[in-house]
Amino acid sequence: MEAPQQTEKKRIKVGIPRALHFYRYFPFWKKLLEELDAEIVISPLTNKKIVEVGVTHGFGELCIPVKIYYGQLLRLVKDHPDLDFIFVPRYVSEVKDSYFCPKFLSLPDVIKILPGIPKILNFEVNVKEFPISTAAVELGKQLGKGQNKALNAYKEAQKYFDEYHAFLREGASVNQALRLVQIIRPFTLPKKKSEGDIRFLLLGHGYNIFDTFINLDFQKKLKDQGVNHITIENLPESIFKTPVIVNPRGAKLQNYWRHEEEIMQAIRYFLTKGRDEIDGVIFLISFACGPDSLIAELIMRDMKVVGLPFLEIIMDEHSGEAGLLTRVESFVEMIRRKKKGLTVGRRNKLTIKSA
Ligand code: SF4
Repeated sequence: MEAPQQTEKKRIKVGIPRALHFYRYFPFWKKLLEELDAEIVISPLTNKKIVEVGVTHGFGELCIPVKIYYGQLLRLVKDHPDLDFIFVPRYVSEVKDSYFCPKFLSLPDVIKILPGIPKILNFEVNVKEFPISTAAVELGKQLGKGQNKALNAYKEAQKYFDEYHAFLREGASVNQALRLVQIIRPFTLPKKKSEGDIRFLLLGHGYNIFDTFINLDFQKKLKDQGVNHITIENLPESIFKTPVIVNPRGAKLQNYWRHEEEIMQAIRYFLTKGRDEIDGVIFLISFACGPDSLIAELIMRDMKVVGLPFLEIIMDEHSGEAGLLTRVESFVEMIRRKKKGLTVGRRNKLTIKSA
């Protein structure tokens, strides 16, 4: 593909929809594309209109995060008719032995059904086939850049992404950190606010946890209840080094979904060494998400075994504020009672173990 003409005044303009892997990789993408001299524009925070448009174009059984991706993409194109490219990476595998959900594998193909989509800037992450640096070189070619420039851009992007992750592990929230990335500020933690009396692990894909519109500002609801929470992005790297075995009594089953494996690795930690570090677990799941509904069942069983309160919340475009608030309030109240010694958990055998 021939790269659009680039002058000193006009850089190649690349649009990134604020959805799906945006909440996981945006700092890496931004640095990589900017090092390749591209100008980046992103779509706004999700809102009612964006969801409506996404739902109109997404077919029935599609999960809500993908519908939001459609809505965000169309909004981006509408707001920026001068885009040279739209950045739609294809994430296949990021580490050996695991894959992303098929929705990520096919994303650059399926969005072609949407009207008025500009040229797609390809970036395929598939470490089973080739290193990510090769994908960066291919990306550079599409932007008219040579191999050395692309490899250097990749190195800088990776370095920046490592700093971003270190910041999250210090305790920053993803949304705080993404704001700093967008306005190009150093990673500095805000002053500590007052502590709540209970602490949750909030589980789920980044696009469910950090898109405040679709989850009805869930993290604020926890804060309003006096609850502290952490997400898997805040946990030490060491937790994610060893694979998880599911159902140790039968054949050794290993989870090959990338995100779900991370969620189960986090859970394994809190089932064992980290048991006393949290008071409960909340799992935000999208309606019609096959991978999440499968592991939610396994997690729920193990939570019962160790007596750790567990709440599963399934979200879609019809989720209602009042119902959600009632569930959170009851869960928090139940845990406060439990902390006072009023509830005891049931003991049985664990299904999630280390490899
Ligand atoms: S993992 Fe689930 S929520 Fe995420 S894209 Fe796949 S089906 Fe949708």
